[in-house]
Amino acid sequence: MGLFGREEAEGHEVAGKPLRCEICHHTKFWERSAQLNTAVATFFNFDWANPTATCLVCENCGYIHWFLPTN
Ligand SMILES: [Zn+2]
Repeated sequence: MGLFGREEAEGHEVAGKPLRCEICHHTKFWERSAQLNTAVATFFNFDWANPTATCLVCENCGYIHWFLPTN
């Protein structure tokens, strides 16, 4: 049983390269998007309000890889 129920974890590419978990080197992740609030946006020095980050959660160890918008 996975963290998000029956949903299948999948491989993902980041910047054209297959993502491997930082911790356990697993290659399947659940994808979620997270709305960042204005305080977080300010902390990261974004110049737009309420950006959305992509979260890839390792199927094996649960480590969350966060990706902030880059464009
Ligand atoms: Zn992992």
